[in-house]
Amino acid sequence: MQPLLMIKYGELGLKGKNKNLFIRQLVQNIERALAAEPALPPRQVRNTRGRIMVPLLADTELPLLRRLLSRVFGIYAICPVQTSTKELPVIQKTALRVLEQTLPEGGEFKVESRRADKSFPFISPEISREVGNYIFDQTGDKFTAQMHKPEHILQVEVRDEAAYVYCGSWPGAKGMPVGTGGRAVVMLSGGIDSPVAAWLAMKRGVTVQAVHFESFPFTSERAQEKVFDLARVLAPWQNGELKVHCVHFTEIQKAIHAACPEEYGITIMRRFMFRLAERIARSTAGLGIYTGESVGQVASQTLESMYVINDVTKMPVLRPLVGFDKEEIMERAKQIGTYDISIRPYEDCCTVFLPAHPKIKPRLAEALAMEEKLPVKELMDEALAASKTWLATPEGVKQI
Ligand code: ATP
Ligand code: MG
Repeated sequence: MQPLLMIKYGELGLKGKNKNLFIRQLVQNIERALAAEPALPPRQVRNTRGRIMVPLLADTELPLLRRLLSRVFGIYAICPVQTSTKELPVIQKTALRVLEQTLPEGGEFKVESRRADKSFPFISPEISREVGNYIFDQTGDKFTAQMHKPEHILQVEVRDEAAYVYCGSWPGAKGMPVGTGGRAVVMLSGGIDSPVAAWLAMKRGVTVQAVHFESFPFTSERAQEKVFDLARVLAPWQNGELKVHCVHFTEIQKAIHAACPEEYGITIMRRFMFRLAERIARSTAGLGIYTGESVGQVASQTLESMYVINDVTKMPVLRPLVGFDKEEIMERAKQIGTYDISIRPYEDCCTVFLPAHPKIKPRLAEALAMEEKLPVKELMDEALAASKTWLATPEGVKQI
């Protein structure tokens, strides 16, 4: 019978209406992930109580499906299963075939069964016993039972529509399906940290749009290209799309440079960034701002700095990396695939006017007094008017 990929999702803490919303979104996200891949013929993704089934049309599809599905948040595990009718002899034969495929040389295993269809005449331990005994009868001493800490577990699930047999699974991305967690913006620099923050936002089901501040002509085309490449790597985790708002930040930086003491340059600059990020969030139904900050990393990331910078917005500022060390962030960036892009050596707008001695403990009253000298609202309006929005997909980036 037809082989399938059986998808398990984390059910913990999900109840009632939330659960249905979660499952519906997850099915939709899986469909989108598959539909976006031209090499895959269309197929019907099915949602049966507690599991999502993706038909497998050929064994050669496995690596591609694995890659696509491993980037869908909300999936706990992906199990390649063989389908069987709900007759014990057929289940037994199917189980033997699956075990032979997994352990062609033989070895130790354990059978575990689950009877979701309570009308099936054998209870779970009986199914396991009958399947195990059949395998031993058929294969002599090729396989042995290992009940404690088995390396291979042959799983039998008897469900309403059919029985499924599998041995082993691939880990899913976990988290929550994108689209269940509301919307937010993420401040995306070309650095190592913020792409990881964007990924962690998506992991909790939040749909993000990126805001990138650029300082043409002080920052190069290459710096923008880097951000686009990061967005393209992140897009598959968010149903294949990530919008990037490129904000023209040059005039603001020049104005700050001209009017404010150098040591406060970064503080004031970052206050502008948060104000602009908030404006973009509001205009796109976003309810929060994600950043890649982590306490203590640089001068603008002391608590004193964060206090003064954060003062410009009432919107939640979410810093998923706040407790991470740089090494942990780098590790994660490598797993996501953003690291090699992030380390390309192009100027970021933050480094363009970098003061020799940035204020590590700025004071709010002083920052406010300095901004009195700046036409804050006009500067922001102009920056936004000169901004452009792009849509990044895995294939490329286009202006929208
Ligand atoms: P990153 O690696 O993400 O650049 P960082 O360690 O270099 O972080 P900062 O440069 O101080 O730290 O930036 C802190 C956060 O501010 C970034 O993680 C990002 O969210 C935001 N940010 C900084 N520069 C920009 C930019 N040019 N455009 C958008 N967001 C930015
Ligand atoms: Mg940076």
